[in-house]
Amino acid sequence: RAKSEGKAAYHFFEPSLDEEARKRRQMELDMRMALRDGGFELYYQPLYGAVEEELKGFEALIRWFHPELGFISPAEFIPLAEETGLIIPIGEWVLREACQQAATWPGELSVAVNISPKQFASPGLSQTIMQALAHGELSPKRLELEITESIFIANVEKTLSTLHSLRALGVRIALDDFGTGYSSLSYLRSFPFDKVKIDRSFVQAISKEVNAHAVIRAITTLAEALGMETLAEGVEQEDQLEVLRREGCRYIQGYLFGKPTPAADLGNIFGDVNDKSKRLSA
Ligand code: C2E
Ligand code: MG
Ligand code: MG
Ligand code: MG
Repeated sequence: RAKSEGKAAYHFFEPSLDEEARKRRQMELDMRMALRDGGFELYYQPLYGAVEEELKGFEALIRWFHPELGFISPAEFIPLAEETGLIIPIGEWVLREACQQAATWPGELSVAVNISPKQFASPGLSQTIMQALAHGELSPKRLELEITESIFIANVEKTLSTLHSLRALGVRIALDDFGTGYSSLSYLRSFPFDKVKIDRSFVQAISKEVNAHAVIRAITTLAEALGMETLAEGVEQEDQLEVLRREGCRYIQGYLFGKPTPAADLGNIFGDVNDKSKRLSA
């Protein structure tokens, strides 16, 4: 009985699997075209000090406005770019574009660029970064690479040696989405990251879970003891900001302060430095 049901289910799902594969193939072709025709864009989300609310820099976030389908989230196409290997040329474009943009910003504002696991493991990464910095004439200390715990899954030794060689370029390295992985604490111990980005889920828990404050305090205390800065992601509400400040978090990022913004519109944000009245409501 189970067997025949299984068979029926197989036949039932077959067309949609085909459909799924066809869509993915089309999406891959469309990504190639976007790469060739300038179809990708970078938006920049501001990063602020938690206490003084001073602007420190921006995170570059890729945007794709598909000619027919409209906006497609990076959460949707980056995984496919990873699978198909397109993340390598896309990631190169992101690095180049971000460095070039950041070099035009005032003062010492930094730019943070997300590096996905396949890109991290690719042999050309150091070279790509050096070229992007040279091309944009950006000082390496103004570039921060955001990596996630998932890079450790492959091969810890290799991962650590790559981290050290990237660090040797003079760029900063941040651990993104901290706390969502399988063994977050052990990764913190294994490499001196410059910054730990506390995942949005911990910030969202603040008004909902009694232990949320204690968890955030534990992370900020540990990070500080290890000489790492902390940034909280996804800060949307004043009460979250209050708690993060109280628990010693150093930097914040989220809709409360600013959404990802096209490069051309950053002028307003530069002008708003230290102007708390410009804070967005969530
Ligand atoms: P991420 O690196 O953790 O980036 C933070 C995400 O949180 C961004 O989503 C940002 O728009 C969103 N966000 C920021 N503040 C808030 C807030 O207050 N509330 C909420 N609900 N969300 C907030 P986005 O831009 O959709 O990017 C999603 C993910 O896609 C990123 O997560 C990153 O992993 C990846 N990604 C984005 N751009 C790139 C890129 O250029 N290269 C690579 N490899 N990955 C990228
Ligand atoms: Mg990030
Ligand atoms: Mg993140
Ligand atoms: Mg995240």
